[in-house]
Amino acid sequence: AGQLPRPQHTRIMTVANQKGGVGKTTTAVNLAAGLAVRGLRVLVVDLDPQGNASTALGIDHRAEDIASVYELLLGEVTLKEAIQESPSQQGLFCVPATLDLAGAEIELVSLVARENRLRNALSDEVLAEYQIDYVFIDCPPSLGLLTVNAMVAAREVLIPIQCEYYALEGVGQLLRNIELVQAHLNRGLHVSTIVLTMYDGRTKLADQVAEEVRRHFGDKVLGTIIPRSVKVSEAPGYGMTIIEYDPGSRGAMSYLDAARELALRGAAEDAQA
Ligand code: ADP
Ligand code: MG
Repeated sequence: AGQLPRPQHTRIMTVANQKGGVGKTTTAVNLAAGLAVRGLRVLVVDLDPQGNASTALGIDHRAEDIASVYELLLGEVTLKEAIQESPSQQGLFCVPATLDLAGAEIELVSLVARENRLRNALSDEVLAEYQIDYVFIDCPPSLGLLTVNAMVAAREVLIPIQCEYYALEGVGQLLRNIELVQAHLNRGLHVSTIVLTMYDGRTKLADQVAEEVRRHFGDKVLGTIIPRSVKVSEAPGYGMTIIEYDPGSRGAMSYLDAARELALRGAAEDAQA
C-alpha cells in the first residue's frame, strides 16, 4: 500500500443525505481512515448531535467540558481548541459533537451569519498548520441549518446512497437544496462524489439500485461499491474504524479502494486545472 497523492488544496467534503441510516457516518470515518492510513492528513467534523463519528474515531464526546463543534459554531472556541487526534490512527483528526449540538439548530437561527458559522470557523491557517489534506463533514439526517452550514463550508458534496428500496427517495430534494446553497451562499459547491453503500450481492435489487444510480449520476459514482458487512457495523462499538478493527476484511478493503479512487480523481482534476 503506497502513499496517495496529496491534493493541491485542502478538499472539504460534506457528507450529506437527509435520510438516516444510509451510511453517511460510516463512509465519512472510514474514507477518512483509508486516506490517513496511506499518509494523508484528514479531519472529520462531526456535525451530528448523536456523535457517532466521534465515537467511531475513539473520541470520548460525552466527557464534560470538551471543546466540541457546538462551541466552535457559537464562536466560543477556536478550531485549534476543538480539534483532537484520533487515538486509532495517526494523521486522523476530529472535531467531536456533543448532545448539546441538538439545540444548535435553533440557537443558530438568531446568530449573525448563521449559515457561515462553520465556514468561518474552519480557518485556513489552522488547516494549513495541521497540514490537513481532506476534511469530511458528517451531517445529521436533516436539511436544517447544520447541514446548510456544512454545505457553505465545503466545496464538494459526497452523497452516500444505500443499495436498498427507495434509494433515490429524497435525493431530488437534497439536490434542490444544494442548488439553493449554490445560488445564494456558496457558488463553488457541487456534488462531486456518490458512494454506493451496504451492497448485498445476493439480491437482484442491489444491482438494480446500483444501475439506476449510475444512470442518474454517471461518473460521479465511485467504481468501488461498499458491501454490507457485519464487521463494518461492529467497529464503532470498539471506538475504531474498520481499517483498524479488521484491516483485511472486505469492508476495510472496499473503503481503502474508495479512498484511493477519491484521491486519484482529485489528483487528476488538479492536473487538469
Ligand atoms: P447514517 O450516518 O447515514 O445515519 P450510518 O453510517 O450510521 O448511517 O449507518 C447506519 C447503520 O448501518 C449503522 O448501524 C452502521 O453501523 C450500519 N452500516 C453502515 N454501513 C454498513 C455496511 N457497509 N455494512 C453493514 N452495516 C453498515
Ligand atoms: Mg450519521
